[in-house]
Parts: sequence; structure tokens; C-alpha cells
Amino acid sequence: MSKPLSPPVAALADQGIRWVAITWVNHAGAPLVKVVPLACFDAAAAVGVGFSPVSDAFRADGAIDPVHRLACPDGDLRLRADAAALALLEPASGWAWAPGERFERSGEPYAGDQRHRCRQQQEQLHQAGVELRAGFELEWLVASHRPDAEPQPAFPGGPYGADRLMEGLDYATALLDGLEAAGIPWQQFHPEYGAGQFELALAPGTPLEAADRLVHARLVIQRVTRRFGWRCSFSPKPSLERVGNGGHLHLSLQRDGLPLLEGGGGPGGLSDAGGAVLAALLEELPALLALACPLEISYRRLAPGSWSAPFQVWGIENREAALRLIPTAADGAAAHLELKVADLAANPYLLLAAVQAVAGAGLDQARPLPPPVSGDPAHLPAGAAVRLPARLAEASAAFAASAVLRQAFGEELHASLLDSQAAEVRRCAGLSDAELAAADGWWPLVGGLGWA
Ligand code: GLU
Ligand code: MG
Repeated sequence: MSKPLSPPVAALADQGIRWVAITWVNHAGAPLVKVVPLACFDAAAAVGVGFSPVSDAFRADGAIDPVHRLACPDGDLRLRADAAALALLEPASGWAWAPGERFERSGEPYAGDQRHRCRQQQEQLHQAGVELRAGFELEWLVASHRPDAEPQPAFPGGPYGADRLMEGLDYATALLDGLEAAGIPWQQFHPEYGAGQFELALAPGTPLEAADRLVHARLVIQRVTRRFGWRCSFSPKPSLERVGNGGHLHLSLQRDGLPLLEGGGGPGGLSDAGGAVLAALLEELPALLALACPLEISYRRLAPGSWSAPFQVWGIENREAALRLIPTAADGAAAHLELKVADLAANPYLLLAAVQAVAGAGLDQARPLPPPVSGDPAHLPAGAAVRLPARLAEASAAFAASAVLRQAFGEELHASLLDSQAAEVRRCAGLSDAELAAADGWWPLVGGLGWA
């Protein structure tokens, strides 16, 4: 006799769900997947499904980097779905979705698993009485594709334009319907500055929830866009002539139930502890960049004057500061920080694991917070604002040297991430900026449209 379904799985079966896509995100930022029949979901959560560790040696174009330490045919892992995060994907066609974490065959958590690391950091902060809440904003380009031509934006209409919303209202309706059907909470949707560009702000949650939500939402956006015959690009810089796509990360913190970014005597109302977190994030920014902006093309987005905030400064409501404090005001909205440099090629689990580790380090050992910068840092006297790394190799060197991140990730994961960063640098060496933008123009469509 087969085992009875667990109550949440039985409830999905009653709704007509038949399959579950279980995803995890590899070092290259690509969501990878195994699908199980709904009837096997409980086993997939308890025991897992096979996944080779080599998948973290995949480059952004899908090729296996030959000198990566994980480029090895041996061994196997088990991807276990997180039953607590089981959600709908496209219920009308019978699909559900769950994020997964990889375990050794011995049953031990796999030390290289990105989501596991994020969970560990979340638990560590929680033990110190600290809760970090996070939420991502996604920007993407909707475009049609013709062979040997630049992506053509799918809609006319101006920046933030109601004209673009009306031109694309069927798309917007289908997209928002799709998000609702998948149960993804969001706060705001709008046509962004660039031609054919849209933005969705996801509701905040715990770090694990925020990262899961980003992965989940991207799948829905990709699916709905395809149904219209277009494609979406989350590439940090789909074309050199246009503004890039950011994946801004918003953060707020509480300790023992009290908010840390407001109600204090520091600039913008920062408490001493909030200032300590901000100072630590600012200091570690070059190292964090290797995770927040993990592709070589990420660095073509990080140009002054494009609201991608490529300076190692913080500011109050300053959109050219890599860390922007949005203080509370008369409306009572909670104060929060925005990490503006991040893009959507980032593995959100690794990025949030790192951000939590740095926040924790800041609280453990306070360091002085420099004054906030107002106005465009590019216009300050030379040397007054430090430019963040302008190449992945530079960010990777900072990541290699970061004691906080090495300790938080453990030697094994830290070293294999360095291998992935080196693989990305090698993949892009010798490509012109235009070739690079074209190669990654449809990210996260691994391999672009070349495999179509
Ligand atoms: N598209 C910009 C970026 O690359 C951000 C625009 C905004 O401030 O929302 O991050
Ligand atoms: Mg935006």
C-alpha cells in the first residue's frame, strides 16, 4: 500500500496539481530544476532527488569550467524540497514549485549548498536576537528577438509611462494574474526607465523567503512573457546603449524587537547598532560585489549616472549611493537600507547569506561610520568617493581577502565560489563589451538563444 499524502500535498492534489518543479540556484546564478510527480513530493522532501555536485562548476553559458574544483564526475547529492516552502507555480496547468537544498548521501547538509548557508546565517542572527527582513526589486526587459538583431523592446512608451502600461496592459494583466495564481506577494509594479523595461517590487520577508520569492517570481515572469511570444531579459546590461536591469535588495533589521535603522541619534535616525551594520556593509562592499554582481557584464551596468550606484558610499535617500538609507518619516513607513548595486544574476541565497554575515559582524564589532554623501558622488573632488570594483576580477580579489565571508561560507564553499568567479573572468577574457552584452543578453536563458 502506498503511503498517504501529507496534508499540504493532499490539498494540492485536490486542486488538480500534478507536478512539482524543485529548484536550487547554482554558483553561476542559474536556477536548476528537477520535476517530481506530486505523489512523490513527500519522498522528495524527506529523501531528495539526485543532483551531481558538478552543477556548481557550470559557467554562466552552461559549459563546465574544466579547472573548477567541482568539475569532477564523482559523487552525488540529494536535492531535498523544502516542504514548508511548497507553493503553486502555474496551477491552471497542474504545476507547483518548491525550493530545495542539497544534502550528502549520509544525510548531512552539503557544505556547498547556497540555500543551506542562507538558512544557517538566518538562524545565527536569530540566536543573537536579530531579525533581518529583506525584499528584492526586479527589473527586466521585455523584447522580441530576430536573428542577428538587437532585442527589440516589445512596447513603446516612456519612462514610468502610463502610455507603456496601456500599450502593454494585456501583458501586465497576465503577469499580475500569474503572480497571484502562484501566491507571490508583491507591492508595486511599473514601467521602468528603459524602453520595454518593467519593474516588480516583491513583498519583504525573512532572508529565505525573500530569496525564494525572487526565484519563484522570475519563473512566473519568464513563463508569462513566453506566452506572449516575447522573451524577458534579466541581464544586468542587455544592451550597452540602454540602462541596465538592477536587482536592488532592501533590508531592515530589528534586535530584541526594536528597529535598528530608526529612532536613534545618528544621521537619518540611525541607532548606534544600525550605524554599525551600515559601516560593516560599507566596508565589505567590494567583497560583497563579487556575489551581488557576479557576471563580467554586471560591471558594464555599474556606471556613474545610471542609478546603479557604483561608489563605496552611503547616503540618505541618495540614488547614486551603493547603500541608500530610506529613513522613516511622517507616514510611519519602516526605515530600511537599499543595496542598489545588486543585479539579478546574483544567487540570492548567497547574497543574503553574505549580507547577514556582514551585518552580524558589524553588530559584534562596531566600526566608525563615515558621514553620508549627498548629491552625485561622481561630482565630488577626486578621491573623495571610492569607486567600487569595475571588473569582476577586482571584486573577486576582495572576496578572496574577506575574512568575514571566508568564515561565514567555510573554506570549501568560499574556495569553490572563487573558482566560479575565475571561470567567469576566463569566459569573458578577450570578448569586447559588445560581444559580452550580446552573449549574456538573454540571461537567465543559459547559452542565450544559441541553443534554440
Ligand atoms: N535600472 C537601474 C539599475 O540598473 C535602477 C533604476 C532605479 O533606481 O530603479 O539598477
Ligand atoms: Mg527601478
